[in-house]
Amino acid sequence: MYKPIHLYHIKEIFYSIQGEGHHAGKPAVFCRFSGCNLWSGREEDRSKAICDFCDTEFVGIDGTLGGKYNAQSLTSAILSLWPNPTHSRPYVVLTGGEPMLQVDQLLLDELHASGIYVSIETNGTLPVLPSIDWITLSPKSKAKWVQKEGDELKLVYPQMDMEPEFYYKNSKCDHFILQPMDGYNYTENLRKTLEYCLSHPHWKIGLQLHKILQLP
Ligand code: SF4
Repeated sequence: MYKPIHLYHIKEIFYSIQGEGHHAGKPAVFCRFSGCNLWSGREEDRSKAICDFCDTEFVGIDGTLGGKYNAQSLTSAILSLWPNPTHSRPYVVLTGGEPMLQVDQLLLDELHASGIYVSIETNGTLPVLPSIDWITLSPKSKAKWVQKEGDELKLVYPQMDMEPEFYYKNSKCDHFILQPMDGYNYTENLRKTLEYCLSHPHWKIGLQLHKILQLP
């Protein structure tokens, strides 16, 4: 029976430095999946969105190396950006938008068969496949929270009605990172984040290294 080939809609693929979380500073290939379940990505919808502070362009497939890929061609595109696979294990960050709207076992098997270390950054509203090597959870205050187990939990701070201790107590993660919300109030957000971490030392402050380095 004819089985249609599954295509992943990719906004962009690029090689840069992981700017956030436990692996900040590590070179990585970023694969940004198109679409999110917490915001349409259109400015006119932002005020009604479940997540209203997003600073990422994830709509469409028109970015660098954007397009529709099957599991094999997406793996090849990711591998092609890694400088020397024989010297170091290729490292990919599946991000979005919300990558779990599209990531499936077929793609993970293909990435792993090529020796790629697979990490994901997810808003935690959908279950994450357990064979992913590194899971970064970044739940949002007004969204349902489904995936509670991961390697690190990263909260943008402060967020209305979001109490970091709730996430600390109700998740199973090894690392807890508080990242000051970017935007016009950044200096104040940075001060609040710093104060929070100093008074709750199980949280570590996370700065967006790629922005400091002015990388994509
Ligand atoms: S969940 Fe992430 S990608 Fe989606 S709108 Fe919020 S910040 Fe943007």
